[in-house]
Amino acid sequence: MSSPTPTNPKPTASAPSATADTPKLSNFLRQIIESDLANGTYAQRKWAGSPGDAAHHAAGQPDPAKIRTRFPPEPNGYLHVGHAKSICVNFGLARDYGGVCHLRFDDTNPEKEDIEYVNSIVDAIKWLGFEWNGTKDAAPYQASDYFDFMYRAAEYLIESGHAYVDEQTPEQMRVNRGDFGKPGTDSPYRNHTSAENLSRFRQMRDGLYPDGAMVLRAKIDMASPNINMRDPAIYRIRRATHHNTGDTWCIYPMYTYAHPIEDALEQITHSICTLEFEDQRPFYDWLMNRLCEGGLLAHPAPHQYEFSRLNLTYVITSKRKLAQLVYDKRVSGWDDPRMPTIVGLRRRGYTPESLHLMHERTGTSKAGGWTDYSVLEGCLRDDLETKAYRGFAVLNPVKLIMTNWDDVFAPGHLESCTQPALPHAAEGVEVPTRHFTIGKEVWIEREDFEEMPPKGYKRLFPGNKVRLKGGYVIECTGCIKDINGTITDVLANVVPDTKSGTPGSDLVKVKAAITWVGVANGVNAEVRMYDRLFLDAHPDAGGKDFIESLNPNSLKVVTAIVEPSLANALPDQKFQFERHGYFVADRVDHVQGTKPVFNLAVGLKDSWGK
Ligand code: ATP
Ligand code: MG
Repeated sequence: MSSPTPTNPKPTASAPSATADTPKLSNFLRQIIESDLANGTYAQRKWAGSPGDAAHHAAGQPDPAKIRTRFPPEPNGYLHVGHAKSICVNFGLARDYGGVCHLRFDDTNPEKEDIEYVNSIVDAIKWLGFEWNGTKDAAPYQASDYFDFMYRAAEYLIESGHAYVDEQTPEQMRVNRGDFGKPGTDSPYRNHTSAENLSRFRQMRDGLYPDGAMVLRAKIDMASPNINMRDPAIYRIRRATHHNTGDTWCIYPMYTYAHPIEDALEQITHSICTLEFEDQRPFYDWLMNRLCEGGLLAHPAPHQYEFSRLNLTYVITSKRKLAQLVYDKRVSGWDDPRMPTIVGLRRRGYTPESLHLMHERTGTSKAGGWTDYSVLEGCLRDDLETKAYRGFAVLNPVKLIMTNWDDVFAPGHLESCTQPALPHAAEGVEVPTRHFTIGKEVWIEREDFEEMPPKGYKRLFPGNKVRLKGGYVIECTGCIKDINGTITDVLANVVPDTKSGTPGSDLVKVKAAITWVGVANGVNAEVRMYDRLFLDAHPDAGGKDFIESLNPNSLKVVTAIVEPSLANALPDQKFQFERHGYFVADRVDHVQGTKPVFNLAVGLKDSWGK
């Protein structure tokens, strides 16, 4: 079988795991793999350098990959946080056990493919730090490349008495399948001879019948307690142009038939999926056994293992529903920073490391349940704490005037100030210093002044002293209001000889230090204050209409004033705006120096709902 991939790739250790100090907890998948490695379950396998049948691999070399896993997305939408979990599981296990993880586009369904989705999936996996198929920049595998083999395997099943063409109507088939309490009834077509079935199947392939007229079914057991074993359909007639195979085929394999074969041709050892496929495992094994018996597939066949999917509160992860949000313009696109897509998370300020951390913290098991959204936020906070440079941004500005400035210094005087960009940098990490100036006028947060302070208030009110962080101590003297009573200016006196970092500067004691930005060098910035997209923790549970719980306040845009170091951010650069939270320079709209645009990634502490 032809393949675009070079031969005999070396197993690669690809992505770095979350952080060096994140312990990798054992889990049932690790235990299975470790026991398979100890027992040499897959040690005799051969690998011909590209996917193929038993004969193809028999002519190959001992497989240099100790295990093979795969990530098989259907290219019909953008990947989301749940897929990130699956990517970390599959690529992570291959990395940790000297294996290879295959990226395979599951494109057996002819209708719903799109190159836009293919590209976005490739980007998302690379961004998470993984490479696939054992070599850098290898072409991903495509399930549709295996259509010829799937057809051949179907003819083999017919010839060996394990499949038949059923001409019942879909309705008759449904009724005759029975249900949980009732065994199914054999189709009148079930006892046709292999020769009759083969000729019918070839006629199906040759386009003699309309779509839906008949299907090819595996012949297993119509009385099986597992309904998936009651002669499942494995091929259907469907006239559709396929993005890869064009109009070559008018019959297409069903997913449950195609998937095990894809795994086997690629010599996958551990085929890991989510729990909804548990009931399909008996059919997976049945099919593998039949095709290995027939010598079409190499021994040992792959095995399927299931773990529970990631369910996050306040998030929906169905591609169809996410698409609805995009097409109904509830969000600005797949990469809207409120979307749980990987492109959305990335634009929101999430890092690959934070998603790896999320994967480690949520674990891999068969236990279901919900993970609170705050766990995801905590992972980002923990990753950015030691990485994101600090900066001052005033989100709701009011002007403060130091009325004695000209007498203490000179009219127009600007004093330069510095602050470390990262107070808790890891040892040996050189951190730049932030430079900004202070003058007669600075911007402060409106909430940092109270004309009539509530009890315990420590910031600015007439007669109180505070420190402008990194600058001087000031003493508040009052404020100026407009005719509506809105405060336009806060007034204060600068206390001489109190500049931060100069000798004796701490002789004047204050109870609070507030953030500020100098009027002379502050820069206006658009800041997008994002909140959760849904108000309901389970927006689509129990068939609820998730549109009804959309949070009307999930985005507020403010014009903030930021210090010069922030205005000079590179797109995608992350910061802690001191006291406010973590922000990222928007990858799309931010222009360095001239048009700063920031997104709120996550607040400093979990305050949601409090
Ligand atoms: P959706 O239901 O969003 O359309 P899907 O399962 O149909 O997703 P696929 O492209 O078929 O999407 O998924 C690729 C892989 O990602 C599958 O192995 C699937 O089990 C896994 N996956 C999807 N969602 C999750 C999740 N929430 N947690 C863990 N793995 C997931
Ligand atoms: Mg799917």
